[in-house]
Amino acid sequence: MTDVAIIGAGVIGCSIALELARRDVSTTVIDRHGAVGHGSTSASCGIVRRYYSTPTMTAMAQEGALVWADWQSYLGTDDASELARFERPGMLFIPPKIDESVQRTLAHMRELGVDAELLSPEEVARRFPFLETASQSPIRSPHDDDFFRATGRSIEGAVFEADAGYVVSPLLATQNLHAAAQVAGVGFRLGCGVVRVQVEAGNRFQLELSDGTALDAAVLVNVAGPHSGVVNRMVGVSLPIETRPLRREVAAIRNPRFTEPGEPPVPVVGDVDSGVYWRPESGGRDLLVGSLDPQCDVLEWVADPDDWNTNCTEAGYERQVMRTMKRFPEVDLDKRRGIAGLYDVTLCDWHPVLDRTDLPGYYVAMGTSGSSFKTAPVIGAVMAELIAACEAGHDHDAVPVRIQLPRTGFEVDVGFFSRLREGRMSSGTVLG
Ligand SMILES: Cc1cc2nc3c(=O)[nH]c(=O)nc-3n(C[C@H](O)[C@H](O)[C@H](O)COP(=O)(O)OP(=O)(O)OC[C@H]3O[C@@H](n4cnc5c(N)ncnc54)[C@H](O)[C@@H]3O)c2cc1C
Repeated sequence: MTDVAIIGAGVIGCSIALELARRDVSTTVIDRHGAVGHGSTSASCGIVRRYYSTPTMTAMAQEGALVWADWQSYLGTDDASELARFERPGMLFIPPKIDESVQRTLAHMRELGVDAELLSPEEVARRFPFLETASQSPIRSPHDDDFFRATGRSIEGAVFEADAGYVVSPLLATQNLHAAAQVAGVGFRLGCGVVRVQVEAGNRFQLELSDGTALDAAVLVNVAGPHSGVVNRMVGVSLPIETRPLRREVAAIRNPRFTEPGEPPVPVVGDVDSGVYWRPESGGRDLLVGSLDPQCDVLEWVADPDDWNTNCTEAGYERQVMRTMKRFPEVDLDKRRGIAGLYDVTLCDWHPVLDRTDLPGYYVAMGTSGSSFKTAPVIGAVMAELIAACEAGHDHDAVPVRIQLPRTGFEVDVGFFSRLREGRMSSGTVLG
């Protein structure tokens, strides 16, 4: 018997478990993989930025960044030898236009204490002379005859977040959470999937595991990443909000600017104007390049999260690298390297669903939409508080739980993440 059973030992499942255990809740995490962090977390680029379209997401991201910057204390461990690192070369965000929404986001970031500034195209060229400042929009397929045709226009500017970066590695961060959660008393059942869930009288959950054993729990939390829809169907719960797995590719290329330590690093770049993002990898030797899903690309929705192409394809690799070459001309196509992974996308707004459900005792932390690594520890705390409030009888649907984030002081209305919403303000992409 456990008070809370969590399905999924990714970065978010482990974060929720740690936060629950810190509140003295008996918690067990189950994962079908033999080790933690081997779901979509293992494919994550681990980028930590605060540039989001809403104050809530910006604040969640800033709170997350402050946790990653103070990782050892957050974990409460004396052993600093094998901890994930938050590398901060800064992040340059290139929107298609510098409009009122960019100014609003910049203002939110600054209110939260983020060191962010608006750079003119000339300033971008001065600080990052290896980057092309011509506008690349409208974004085209590399097969389009006009792909390399000069637009004759400049970008309007860029937002620079001085201490943004990425966590190396998301897998190691999840292993750190696993270790801290075990110390805090969390039980892990790894290497056995949940194959059946029965809801018993009095709303207890009986979980049947793939190794033939069973587990009883008073509360069940679905943190199954791209399998969250499968788990909901297993439990017999259908949410009013739609989520769907989306196949992604991340290409790896040589960083043409990799030099000896002491040289200014290539920043993380979120280039909406070109439809790509990238960040340094392997100590700066490589760059990881992902897509920002420009409108000309067809999104690869996946019907079955157990049946999809897990390899990086020639077409995907070329598309991402060639778009990168237009912004960063020293980049070369090179030999194809990369990985594929799945996002669990909330279709209406690309923000996570963190909520109770209509079935008492059953909760979801899903639909993380390709951008919830950075906020995982914050989501952990939000879910722990939400579960505590709802289990104590609070009607979260009627009066949403509010939580003050300890580091930023921002008060999160957890109703923002409700399954009943029709969509929040959003870029409608992984940028949130
Ligand atoms: C290519 C890629 C790049 C990304 N880049 C970034 C980024 O730069 N920054 C950022 O903030 N976010 C990023 N993300 C998003 C971020 O990685 C995810 O939001 C986050 O890792 C989701 O974690 P999770 O714990 O919810 O899910 P997962 O890591 O997918 O974990 C779910 C777990 O559930 C388990 N499971 C499923 N079904 C069952 C079952 N029936 N029984 C038992 N276990 C089960 C799986 O085995 C898995 O381990 C990226 C994601 C991808 C795919």
